[in-house]
Amino acid sequence: MTTQLMYSPEFNKHNTPGHPENAQRLTTLLQNLQTASFYDTLKIMEPTPLPETLLTEIHGGGMIEQIKNISNTGDSWIDLDTYVCKDDYHTARLAAGSVLDICTNVLNDNVTNGFALTRPPGHHATAHRSMGFCLFNNAALAAHALTKKGKKVLIIDPDVHHGNGVQQIFFNRNDVLYQSLHLSPHYPGTGDIQEIGIGQGEGYTNNAPLSHGNGNTAATRILQTIFLPIAHQFHPDLIIMCTGYDSHHADPLGGLQFTTQFYADITKMYQEIQPKLVCTLEGGYNLTWIGPCFLAQLGQLSNHPSTIQDTTHEIDTADAVIAQLQKELGDYWDL
Ligand SMILES: [Zn+2]
Repeated sequence: MTTQLMYSPEFNKHNTPGHPENAQRLTTLLQNLQTASFYDTLKIMEPTPLPETLLTEIHGGGMIEQIKNISNTGDSWIDLDTYVCKDDYHTARLAAGSVLDICTNVLNDNVTNGFALTRPPGHHATAHRSMGFCLFNNAALAAHALTKKGKKVLIIDPDVHHGNGVQQIFFNRNDVLYQSLHLSPHYPGTGDIQEIGIGQGEGYTNNAPLSHGNGNTAATRILQTIFLPIAHQFHPDLIIMCTGYDSHHADPLGGLQFTTQFYADITKMYQEIQPKLVCTLEGGYNLTWIGPCFLAQLGQLSNHPSTIQDTTHEIDTADAVIAQLQKELGDYWDL
């Protein structure tokens, strides 16, 4: 088996020092990577930019032109959270392209699974709006490209923030199943249990909002009783994980209590549904902890599992979430 890791030094041209989503995140992950005992087993490659034609199939309404224009002239802000740097039109397409490149390699059986170390992140970018540190929706663009080849894609998103962009892009579709564990109430304010999709997409959006302080125990119970049974019935050809380490207990922008080992555990659970699994980097802002989280998860992907124990003070309010999910999704899935 082979795990592919994809990143480009160009990702760090997207940078605003002092902003939580800055180049130091990727630098830190790469430094941690070099200490990994399994480093030599990884197939590390540089991505190709996502073709413009694919980009326009998901994004529109002027957002591509906006990024293109700022990218030509220099640094600017799209909203209070989201900056665009010179050359970001290329950099952001490179991020999306890295997810698609690994997915293609996995589906062609060139590699077993992979991790795209993407910056800028993507899961908040909607069809018509860059937001929440995200320019283009890396996971959604890759998933959409795969559906054009007749593939069914599951996107699991354990980032502390709800992936409103992924949800919106696939809300009326049944070829992409979106599952999100997230803190609520929290940015961006979407991700209620009742948001299950519309039309053909009914039942193909699964949201588990967790209140402040919930951790591994609540998440695992929701995964085992709701998300994984649905994932199994959906029978995906490939799984994309929107990996956000901001759901870790030490994250400054978080509020959930996931442990470092949780990112390996959730990866293992989804590998058992479909081993063709590709991670893409979303959030995670504690520079001390994102490295260990990344190595735990990458170790799981590359069959070098470790157990790292860190203690948390979690609560478990999953009962109400599970009961409501069964009520909302029971018409569509055998739960
Ligand atoms: Zn996040």
